[in-house]
Amino acid sequence: MAKKKEEENKKKHIPVVTKKSLQFFEKYINNPAPTGYEWEGQKLWLDYLKPYIDESFIDNYGTAVGVINPKASYKVVIEAHADEISWYVNYITSDGLIYVIRNGGSDHQIAPSKRVNIHTEKGTVKAVFGWPAIHTRHGEKEEAPQLKNIFLDCGCTTKEEVEKLGIHVGCVITYEDEFMVLNDRYYVGRALDNRAGGFMIAEVARLLKENKKKLPFGLYIVNSVQEEIGLRGAEMIAQRIKPNVAIVTDVTHDTTTPMISKITQGDLACGKGPVVSYAPAVQTNLNKLLIKVAEKNDIPFQRQASSRSTGTDTDAFAYSNGGVPSALISLPLRYMHTTVEMVHKEDVDNVISLIYESLLNIKAEQDFREFS
Ligand SMILES: [Zn+2]
Repeated sequence: MAKKKEEENKKKHIPVVTKKSLQFFEKYINNPAPTGYEWEGQKLWLDYLKPYIDESFIDNYGTAVGVINPKASYKVVIEAHADEISWYVNYITSDGLIYVIRNGGSDHQIAPSKRVNIHTEKGTVKAVFGWPAIHTRHGEKEEAPQLKNIFLDCGCTTKEEVEKLGIHVGCVITYEDEFMVLNDRYYVGRALDNRAGGFMIAEVARLLKENKKKLPFGLYIVNSVQEEIGLRGAEMIAQRIKPNVAIVTDVTHDTTTPMISKITQGDLACGKGPVVSYAPAVQTNLNKLLIKVAEKNDIPFQRQASSRSTGTDTDAFAYSNGGVPSALISLPLRYMHTTVEMVHKEDVDNVISLIYESLLNIKAEQDFREFS
């Protein structure tokens, strides 16, 4: 009895991602897109998006924008960020080891024993994050991996050898871990934060085209660069587009895995649907529209509260151009900023559906002010 009721209460799940779109997603995730060096990923993304848009453009730092109805004066943005956290070569020792600094919030704790790609003008050079053997650490107080003690070994024993491979200070470094599907339920990979977002907004454009939907406004599908170092790409493109509305998608923490406090981080889980955010940067009436659309369409959703800003590109859009009504739809994710970021397939479908249905419910020239 209880079980039956539970099943009845479970919102129906409508698959959105197709075999063909999944092929693109895998290729897009496996392509490195370090912050500040997103070009190759942006090309892949635009190639996928092009059949579904009227025109596109790129800004000076590489933010890519697909536009539907470019002549419309009322402009709605749907946005995600394209960049992947990485490392920079910072110091090459005389015996050929390499010390690094962060490019974005790369996690020193997961570095030892990882394989990496160092991106050089001459192509990709392989290296590994070495670490002293457990035997040699015996009896001593364990030293945790920190920025000051993690190092790369690219198989060279002198600085000159390293340089001969094309490696110099300022080369960027990404992990080599690739996309996989776990238990037919989770997508796993590097930088699903937030390339899952770029994928989802492209899928929204695909649905609009395939379902022959006409929007009464201009739609700007924006894949911003440089989010991981402070929302910089979004800041730049918000000034250029000057939108009337912005719906941003990014990832948020699944808090049901070990060592995360629900008391401070909230109670959010993969598989339970898109996450809507409550924060001063999120415009109340736009947020209400998202929630109404979710309820009307039986799309499950979760709620998250943030002090002040959201820490996502939402803030960059909200506080641009004298204030742009902005909202955030987050995708719950496990193990953020590791190489095994995990998101639930159904959540990906549901974020796409929620953005899509929300667009269909925004009217031309809609005014989101509480009163005027
Ligand atoms: Zn991130």
